[in-house]
Parts: sequence; C-alpha cells; structure tokens
Amino acid sequence: MFSRLPRIIHGGGIRIPWISLWLAAGGLGIFLNAPVVCGEIEGVTEFSGARAMEFINIQCDMGPRTPGSAGNLQLREMIVEMAREHGLEVNTLCFDAIDPISEREVQLCNVIVSAGPPGGERLWLGAHYDTRPISDHDDDPKLRSTPLAGANDGASGVAVLLHLMEIMANDPPPQGVDLMFFDGEDSGLSGDPSGFCLGSRRLAATCRDFANPLSRGTPRGVVVLDMIGKKNLQVPMEGYSLVNAPAWTAAIFERAAKLGLGAFVPERGPGVYDDHVPFLEQGIPAVDLIDFDFPQWHTTADTPDICSGASLAQVGRLMVDLIYNP
Ligand SMILES: [Zn+2]
Repeated sequence: MFSRLPRIIHGGGIRIPWISLWLAAGGLGIFLNAPVVCGEIEGVTEFSGARAMEFINIQCDMGPRTPGSAGNLQLREMIVEMAREHGLEVNTLCFDAIDPISEREVQLCNVIVSAGPPGGERLWLGAHYDTRPISDHDDDPKLRSTPLAGANDGASGVAVLLHLMEIMANDPPPQGVDLMFFDGEDSGLSGDPSGFCLGSRRLAATCRDFANPLSRGTPRGVVVLDMIGKKNLQVPMEGYSLVNAPAWTAAIFERAAKLGLGAFVPERGPGVYDDHVPFLEQGIPAVDLIDFDFPQWHTTADTPDICSGASLAQVGRLMVDLIYNP
C-alpha cells in the first residue's frame, strides 16, 4: 500500500526529506482564502487551550510514561478514572509485546473512551500516551539514553483528548465518538518502523473483533493527534494521509480553514509513519495531524515550556467542530 510513496519518515527514527514538499497546483490553497467564521458552537463548552496546557503539565509531572513504567500506569489509571467520573464508557485492551529497545516482554494497554450514541457511524480520535524511553536525538551524547518528558511528543495529543472528554461529558455529542489512547507508539529503534506504533497496530488489526468495543460501530474516519502542542504550530497535510485518505484529509483541512485556524496549512507535508498508518492499512480513512518541524524531537528539551495553549486551542476547536457538526 505504501510502496509507491517514495520516502518515509516515522515518528521514531528515519527522517528523510520529502521529494515534493508543495502541491504542484494551488488548488488546495483556496482554503487559505476561505471566510473566517466563529468556531464556537451554541450550547457547547468552548475548548480551552489553558485547560489542555494543564493536562500537559499533569502528564509531565508523572515522569516518563514509557511502556511498563510507573508513569505509564499512573496516566492510564488517570484516563480510566476521568472517563468513569465523567460517566463515559471506558475499555482497556492489553496485550504482551517485546519492547524493541529493552528487548524485554512488556504489557501494552490501549484505552478507549466512548461518548455519544452507541453504535452507528463514529468518529475515532487517537493519540499515543506513552513516551519515548530514550532521547536519541539529543545534542548531548550523555543524555541520549535518558527517557524524555514528551510534552509535545505524547502529552499534547493526549491533553486535547482529555479536555474533549470533559466537554463531551458536559454536552453529549450528536454522533458516537471513540477516543483512542495508544500505548507503545514510541519505543522503536531508529531506522526500523516495525518497532513503532505497537498499540495502534494491535488496535487497528482487531477493531472488527467481537471483543473490541470499536467493532460496535462503523468509523466515519480517524484523526490522530501527535506533536500538536508546540508554539507557532504549523500542521501540513501529512503525506500518507493525503495519498491514502485524500477526501478525509481535505475535508479536515477545509473545516480548519472555515474556522479560521491558521495552524493548519493545506499543503503537502512529509509522510510520517505514525498511529494512523495501521488504520489506513485496514482501509479506514485516517489523517495524522502532526507538525514534524520540531527541533526538540526525541530530545530532553521536549518539555512543557516549548508548548502553547494557543496551539492546543486551535487543534481542540477543530476537534470540537468535527464532533458537534458532523
Ligand atoms: Zn516520538
């Protein structure tokens, strides 16, 4: 499916320039000129960038959330607890895997929080809650075996989903929504995509199984949020999303333009091997919202101070619109 794509960047290691960074024609650029409309939806709590920023800090205060760690368990328990407190259905799906870096067996757990009417056509929103066990791109060689804080790479996407959980608890959405918290995204070895996205791969491969809560509905589409918290966020149309789910990707960016969300740039960006790819492989439309122009990527400098509530708010407002204006 992906062999025609000339180059791959994945969330963990290979970083190769994309052959054609720009769309040849300006056809999609029309979105930039779309009229700006108010992003607020009557009766629905407005997405707060400050609240999402709080969730980044809360996660980073737990320490690294590497698979099998105390921080990972603490965050998973918090997600489950929050969902229960807000009266949302929550399911945890665990499986054993070999951690590619430590080569030890580790239990990975995906968490699915469901809101809105049961069954039917549903929106699947995902983010990885694990963090990378090593800072292998750090400038300082002594720090390269240190686990990173993952404020942007991990916590940012989760922060948006956690705040959406609060909003959906206050205002039940008109369509079914499943929030997917993936484990085991970021423990691969540089240069080998097979070690990345372990949680999402398992979830996508089993999403039609009877025991999987996702099997109760039909996905309208998947949106993966990854590295969407940095200041001056610029999210292009990720390469795999654009090639394999062009209509879904264009619809998301058109929606962002209509909302006047300047962080979303309707131009072709790099292809990133991320948690959306396993869903694309299942034939499910999926878009990865990611700003891979991130100098602190896989370094110890990926800390909350480089994140911004304003960036999180743009992503959150887009998700709220997607949820409440199907
Ligand atoms: Zn990463």
